[in-house]
Amino acid sequence: MSDYDFDLFVIGAGSGGVRAARIAASHGATVAVAEEYRVGGTCVIRGCVPKKLLVYGSHFAEDLADAKRFGWNTDGAHFDWSTLRDNVAAEVDRLEGLYGEIFVSNGVEIFHERAVVTGPNNVRLANGRDISARYILIATGAWPSIPDVPGADLGITSNEVFHLPELPKRAVIAGAGYIANEFAGIFNELGVDVTLVTRGDKMLRSYDQEIVEKLIGISREKGIDIRMNFPFKSAVKQGDGSILIDGGDAGMVETDLLMWAIGRSPNSNNLGLETAGVALDNNGAVIVGSDNRTSVPSIYAVGDVTNRVQLTPVAIREGHAFADSVFGNAPRTIDYNCIPTAVFSNPPIASVGMTEEQANATLSQVKVYRSDFRAMKNVLAGRNERALYKMIVDGSTDKVVGLHLIGPESGEILQAAAIAVKAGLTKQAFDDTVALHPSMSEELVLMK
Ligand code: NDP
Repeated sequence: MSDYDFDLFVIGAGSGGVRAARIAASHGATVAVAEEYRVGGTCVIRGCVPKKLLVYGSHFAEDLADAKRFGWNTDGAHFDWSTLRDNVAAEVDRLEGLYGEIFVSNGVEIFHERAVVTGPNNVRLANGRDISARYILIATGAWPSIPDVPGADLGITSNEVFHLPELPKRAVIAGAGYIANEFAGIFNELGVDVTLVTRGDKMLRSYDQEIVEKLIGISREKGIDIRMNFPFKSAVKQGDGSILIDGGDAGMVETDLLMWAIGRSPNSNNLGLETAGVALDNNGAVIVGSDNRTSVPSIYAVGDVTNRVQLTPVAIREGHAFADSVFGNAPRTIDYNCIPTAVFSNPPIASVGMTEEQANATLSQVKVYRSDFRAMKNVLAGRNERALYKMIVDGSTDKVVGLHLIGPESGEILQAAAIAVKAGLTKQAFDDTVALHPSMSEELVLMK
């Protein structure tokens, strides 16, 4: 007989928590999960999945416009937001069901309510029930940040954007990161008049800035009004229902929809963590070691709540490594080097490894190769938009240390190329590979 009700109690049924629960159960642990909202977490319910489907849905606007040059008569084609919104919601429902089945088929008990930590081995459910567990895993994710300015509550976040009753005529998106650029692209294609306001003079700071400049140029060409150095002072609702945003010296903007996309904060509030002795950093992130263990030996944390790398595939790996280490007798840690990422803007950006700026700051010799080209499809479509691929090479070893792409399908193209960068292949190895023609990805092996 175990001294505890469960071997593992997971708080949060998102990407990291679900993977940890399933793997721990497969190693023979008795596992329970508490989730106060919907099973699947940010990625499935209100993040990556519905966002990517909106990206696909919105991109038909350009595809239909381009189709004419390829001989298609698209007269009469029109867009209906409620159809896209409801179909995306139905797909999210389907995936939520599949996630629920993972628990059933692995014998994991799910409590559809909030749980808080009451001690190193104890949690309390919202219904008052106390449960003990040998280990507790915090996998509560992160939550969209909202600035502390008057009228901030007039804005929505990525949590609400998937459920809009109708598309606004005008939208202001505040932020300069992933979500801001992705939704600027989606709304723009769907015919919304988009203004992107950023507090500083840079966007997507962690990305290669030459690539980002390309995105800014293309976004402006498409009609997205980008206003940098816009200090967000306040927002007020006007008599006609519109929102007036005060940007101080940067001026005023009137809009029908305000969306905040200024980062996501670790979801660690009111979880009883401080009471249990779990150390948090100044941003509220749970502090963990490379083994995902917190300052309390029986409590672990994975995913966005630890604010290491806020990406789904990383949370999944952390959850898996935790379960293998603690229940599978196979301790391991995650390698955070060379994580490929993409911004599903229009066009998308994809990146792996060092940017030119990072390489110049850390390597003694840096070679940069570029290919600035117009995709064949864009040429026939009469679309002037160009792609840019950059390869960053360590000049002393010939190793490719970074790849940065902006252009159609760049996320699809980069994943395979990221394997080569992760494996430490040289520029010569890329050159030795015969081009796959005609394709955009062949530019990767043709850079001079
Ligand atoms: P990001 O972390 O990408 O960017 C936040 C942006 O908000 C920064 O540009 C920052 O500006 C700005 N900002 C921060 N605080 C304020 C403030 N008080 N007022 C005005 N602007 C502010 O945030 P997102 O919300 O876009 O995304 C959150 C995280 O979710 C990302 O970091 C990413 O890890 C993940 N994500 C990943 C996606 C993907 O993989 N495709 C898609 C969506 C999200 P500054 O640069 O000046 O600091």
